[in-house]
Amino acid sequence: MHCLSRILMTGVTTMLLAGAAAPAVAWGPGGHQAVGAIADQLIAGTPAARKVRLLLGTNLQTASVWADCARAVQSDQGVWTYVIDPKNRRAECAYDENRPGGQAALVDYVRRNASSCAGARPPTSQCRHKAYHFTDLPIQHPAYALGQPGTAPDDLVQTVGALLAVLAGGKSPAPYDIKGQAEALRLLAHFVGDLHQPLHVGAVYLSEAGERLDPATPQELKDHDTSGGNAILFEGRNLHEAWDGILESQYRQALAGDFKAEARQVAATPGAIASWPTAWASETASRASLAFQDLKFSPKVRAGFDTGWPASAPKPTYAQARETLQHEQIVKAGARLAKILGTLWH
Ligand SMILES: [Zn+2]
Repeated sequence: MHCLSRILMTGVTTMLLAGAAAPAVAWGPGGHQAVGAIADQLIAGTPAARKVRLLLGTNLQTASVWADCARAVQSDQGVWTYVIDPKNRRAECAYDENRPGGQAALVDYVRRNASSCAGARPPTSQCRHKAYHFTDLPIQHPAYALGQPGTAPDDLVQTVGALLAVLAGGKSPAPYDIKGQAEALRLLAHFVGDLHQPLHVGAVYLSEAGERLDPATPQELKDHDTSGGNAILFEGRNLHEAWDGILESQYRQALAGDFKAEARQVAATPGAIASWPTAWASETASRASLAFQDLKFSPKVRAGFDTGWPASAPKPTYAQARETLQHEQIVKAGARLAKILGTLWH
């Protein structure tokens, strides 16, 4: 459930927000491309931009969705294939689908990183590379420390740390199998975005009755897991989707450079670069409490795909608060992606 349910919405989609038609695009690809575009704008003309172009042959905006395009790779009895669904073409993946060796590179990455997950997570096929996209810090304990409830040796924070190690010239640390700097950069352009999506980092755990819990054991984590909001039923979709979607206006403004000046004002993160993912996860988890504090949860229902906890929120204030926080997080993610690259290659 956890891995499968983290499949992000694809393509440009229109959603109903707060009872009014409000065009939105998904954090994947819209939010990720917005983050990549801001970083592209900030490093333009620098040695970091030249290195990005050399490694990727494209920009961060285009590369930012690569880790989600990898979800199209399927395995059947040892045969691995990149599968294009003609009914659900993903425009953002066209670049990698069409460039020479593009599909093979995606298949190769997934095959190397597809083993089952450990711990409380279900041993789903390809679980590991899908687990790279999130961590599940209980909102009661937002300070990230590996080994604490909700963390895992292959979670989002460890993933970004592993990518930084490879980009700094080191080897890919276990359990990761990252091929080299180009692959690490493609992944980094995505995962710094995920690290700033509140529901990819902070989690609410619920009892059957819909009461908030503070899980302490692996069994409690499993029993009360809301799967990053995928198991919270909210306004005709799930809460994770609601937070993945960004306003189309935000997306267009990010690509047009409207957030560049604001991104330049994002405060530098103190400490060594290797400590940044932990600091950013702790900050995002703190901010994630905003996503849950005004929600009212009902007892869990079991009805196929609609299994989960129904939730409601005050209108229109909840949607407005979400849009404000999404904007802040996208700007920070873009600024920080640029900061990493400017620090590595100057
Ligand atoms: Zn992701």
